[in-house]
Amino acid sequence: MPVSQKIEEILNYIQMCSPGQEEFYQATHEVLQSLIPLLEQDNRYLEHNILESIVVPERSIIFRVNWVDDTGKRLTNVGYRVQFSSAIGPYKGGLRFHPNVNLGIIKFLGFEQIFKNALTGLQIGGAKGGSNFDPKGKSDNEIMRFCQAFMSELYKHIGNQRDVPAGDIGVGAREIGYLFGQYKKLTGEFQGILTGKGLNWGGSRLRKEATGYGSVYFAENFLKVYEKDLKDKRCTVSGSGNVAIYTIEKLYDVGATPVSCSDSRGTIYHEKGIDLASLKAVKEIHQKSLEEYAILHPDAIYTGTAYYPENGHAVWHIPCDVAFPSATQNELTLVDAQKLVENGCILVNEGANMPTTPEAIEYLRLRGVLFAPGKAANSGGVATSQLEMSQNASMSNWSSEEVDIKLRTIMQTVFKTAYDTSVEFGFEGDLVKGANIAGFRKVADSMIDQGSV
Ligand code: NAP
Repeated sequence: MPVSQKIEEILNYIQMCSPGQEEFYQATHEVLQSLIPLLEQDNRYLEHNILESIVVPERSIIFRVNWVDDTGKRLTNVGYRVQFSSAIGPYKGGLRFHPNVNLGIIKFLGFEQIFKNALTGLQIGGAKGGSNFDPKGKSDNEIMRFCQAFMSELYKHIGNQRDVPAGDIGVGAREIGYLFGQYKKLTGEFQGILTGKGLNWGGSRLRKEATGYGSVYFAENFLKVYEKDLKDKRCTVSGSGNVAIYTIEKLYDVGATPVSCSDSRGTIYHEKGIDLASLKAVKEIHQKSLEEYAILHPDAIYTGTAYYPENGHAVWHIPCDVAFPSATQNELTLVDAQKLVENGCILVNEGANMPTTPEAIEYLRLRGVLFAPGKAANSGGVATSQLEMSQNASMSNWSSEEVDIKLRTIMQTVFKTAYDTSVEFGFEGDLVKGANIAGFRKVADSMIDQGSV
């Protein structure tokens, strides 16, 4: 049977046995299609049924999270941990707290995480988890009670050699602290079972900054191949969370001008460059809407979501040289890609997971715009999480400079692995194929070595 027919069969099978998981179909479709050149060259993967196996999580844990709000009302949310693959190491991947979380979203994120983690060259498997809990508008005490209730079930399934979760959307330092405290209370053990911890209790320097910084390092590596760099480039960034803020910070360090940021309610365009201190104050300290930024800076333009272009996002309609989608999935559409090309954008570098739709990726590719997929470009976060695990295991505490040197080296390795693989298969610069093939090959070879388990 031709490889493409086999892949169609598997994709149909996934749809049949996991209905309604659109984001998961999107992720599996992209990965499996891009593996065709490898599968045609090496038939061991089909012989060992690796594709059928790798698209099914080793374990999906779904649990009830009962908690009590400040008025004494009992509330219920759904918790998830999808342990997708432990072929190359203990499960590793973030926890997301957002009202739109469902099993399909956690599965798409966990599936992507397998290949991302493999690309870093580190020994970490793939997982993802979270809840449909909405942290917005909750008091600190409500967040604490929710995290304690969530960990009261999760603690049974994690461990420093088993599964080490981290943060993601809606899960930052505060939530990691409450989750860690509850784990310690339940088990009586002080263990490195989470990353993104506070510096006083086992965290790593630069973990918070790592995804954003790493994304910029990745873009630099990519542009260098084409004798370009980020200096004096106008960059658009979406999001205003952890990834976006530290992308903006590092863009200033390398001499670029980041001119935008966004949140779930609107977009800021600040032509002279985003004021980082104001952005951190509005988002990190006061957790307010970006409308507050516009009040502080009357020369910045604020566009609410009601005024976004049809089927598009205002941030990608701002003229730029390089775009850094860093908020959430499917936030850069075909309409946006058309505008980016019209405005002369040379690179789309994904800080978020799967922010660019498949139609937009194809449009950019056909018009020669460089495209850095999230599973390669945003891997600096998980890589630094692994550095945190190493420090915990050896009871050491590295300086910011030491961590930064390691992060730069890892991002260079991730880029080189994805790029060299794209060259090996005759698609020079197609990092979607390069990253997927390189990540898959490492995991799939390990699965073959370990037998049918
Ligand atoms: P975060 O700190 O919670 O920030 C998320 C940002 O995206 C916020 O500005 C949020 O707006 C916006 N956002 C979230 N959902 C949205 C939606 N449905 N529509 C529009 N805007 C939305 O999260 P983060 O850690 O920066 O993560 C951002 C992306 O990077 C995610 O795709 C995540 O999976 C990926 N990622 C994160 C890491 C990491 O280390 N944190 C590592 C790799 C990949 P509001 O402020 O209005 O909520």
